[in-house]
Amino acid sequence: MKPTGSGMSDVERVRDAADIVRIVGDHVTLKAKGREYVGLCPFHDDHNPSMAVVPGKQIFKCFVCGAGGDVFSFIQLYHRMEFREALEYLAERCNITLTARGAMPEEGAEPGFNRSSLAEANAQAAAFFRAVLNHPEHGRAARAVIARRGISAGMVERFSLGAAPDRWDGLAMKIDSQRWDRGLFAAAGLLKRRDDGGFYDSFRNRLMFPIRDQIGRVIAFGARRIDDEDEPKYLNSPESPLFNKSASIFGLHQAVQSIQRERTAIITEGYTDVIACHQAGVEHAVATLGTALTPGHATILRRLCDTVVLLFDGDEAGHKAADRAVEVFFGESLDVRIATLDRFTDAKDPDELLKREGGREVLLRAVGEGVGLLDYRFGRLRERLAGAGPSALERATNEEIAKLAQLGFHRATPIRRQLLLKRLAAITGLEESLLAEQMRRAKGAAGRGTEAPGAEPAGAAGGAGEAADPVHLVEALGCVLTEGSLWAGLSVEDRRLLAPEAYGSRVLFQIATAVRQVASEGRAPGLRAVLDAIEDTGVKSRAVDIQTNTERVAEERVGAYLADCLTRERRRLSEREGREGRGGSGADGAGFAAMIELKRRQIEEFGPDRRRIARPTGRGPAARNPGPECQ
Ligand SMILES: [Zn+2]
Repeated sequence: MKPTGSGMSDVERVRDAADIVRIVGDHVTLKAKGREYVGLCPFHDDHNPSMAVVPGKQIFKCFVCGAGGDVFSFIQLYHRMEFREALEYLAERCNITLTARGAMPEEGAEPGFNRSSLAEANAQAAAFFRAVLNHPEHGRAARAVIARRGISAGMVERFSLGAAPDRWDGLAMKIDSQRWDRGLFAAAGLLKRRDDGGFYDSFRNRLMFPIRDQIGRVIAFGARRIDDEDEPKYLNSPESPLFNKSASIFGLHQAVQSIQRERTAIITEGYTDVIACHQAGVEHAVATLGTALTPGHATILRRLCDTVVLLFDGDEAGHKAADRAVEVFFGESLDVRIATLDRFTDAKDPDELLKREGGREVLLRAVGEGVGLLDYRFGRLRERLAGAGPSALERATNEEIAKLAQLGFHRATPIRRQLLLKRLAAITGLEESLLAEQMRRAKGAAGRGTEAPGAEPAGAAGGAGEAADPVHLVEALGCVLTEGSLWAGLSVEDRRLLAPEAYGSRVLFQIATAVRQVASEGRAPGLRAVLDAIEDTGVKSRAVDIQTNTERVAEERVGAYLADCLTRERRRLSEREGREGRGGSGADGAGFAAMIELKRRQIEEFGPDRRRIARPTGRGPAARNPGPECQ
């Protein structure tokens, strides 16, 4: 729980300014549906829009995996940020200056630097490279490369290009002069350690392309040589807690709105291709970072668009990548097309093509005439089988079947399976039923390693440990969250029934604590205010869950429903008292029974791991260690 002062807190100001529909919409394409918006949930392997964003409540909620929360939770879960990191990011985005700069907690006992300080180091390095590029002398060679490539000033700006100076200690000296932490820059891959313990620049005499994440933070650099003698041609920052190469997409931050608008992403082979495309007004172009397309890329893209076009310079690269792409995309509900330039032009890449008169039209035609991934694959199979003898045909067919089985044919929808078999039959000239039989056999042989890619943990707490809490008590909390103003009408006694100590589960305990905190500040403890008072994403998710469920069952009669829940709780408590009274074990006996009950609940919730169970001090759940996740 964090303290909230008088007046509007930072959290409230940022939450009010950051429209959840816009923020979530930057990550997942949303469609309006009544008073809500729906989109593919990024927190489970979603193929039908299961996530609702409710602007009225400023929450999101997935009805399949249970993930839910406010705008802070969304950013935290999506980008794996700490609460403070998400708050600072959203504040910056909304041009809000935070009043209290809380101490950034270092993550756990793990040595090293957290993601936001690594991002900070990268941002400082980007500014330095930028300044070098503009330096009359030190930036001259890099500016010449930019000019030769025909990159406009607007694109230099849009992609924040920079230059690493032609010396071993350019950035290192800047870091020393600013008294920045050299270890941090080394952790970000910007400095390297010498044998004598000193540091030198990782990037020397290179044109620098900052690689940003979807929300624009610089997470790494791509560096192109300026001098043709230098090897390699391209160099990337090493992986870090901030930078996962196989799930990062160059240009996504700049392209995301266009990708959503066009419902299509074009994946080119290199950074300069992306920049050339954007310069020509084709702004839905991005690139992987010198790697093949991975499930991580697919997962990010399918939340934003329906079609991905893999644009290759030549057929050779296309063939190789198509095989790989089939594996990555087979199970994804994305339309994937392969487009190769060399069928349309003799320009060697999009960069060269777009410099020519009418180049943009040629590029768009190549993209438009891209071949579907399976067509492409089957087309090649057909070529292979043309004129093949029976044994070659048998071998190729069996190989194809084994491949399809391995890719997850059996998990595809029946319609898709049927279509695939039909086409395979047409190509091979074999009976469909025979192929289906072969496919069934191949199913058993298909190895593992074909799990659905990219599903991230929801971070939703679910109802763990709530078994001990009666439903009506949970729903009472839900009523208050639905209509915060009801709290004012409750008697002291009723409020005691909803006190944190009344709840056995840690999560409910924390929600009730937030309710009490908001109420003690003289405000109505409705969902929005209560979410502001909670930092833990799991607890928030559960609060949204409880509110949504209660609202559904209580319909329009929330006040009456709450009264009913409280009546039930009073009855339950008096029945329990009666039982314990009849037991006749006296005051000591009742105390012992209560202790046993507390213990039982704790074991139910945390398991028998004794380290996480607080000693029964008689103070109830309040005495418990809330666990590391709610710092
Ligand atoms: Zn979900």
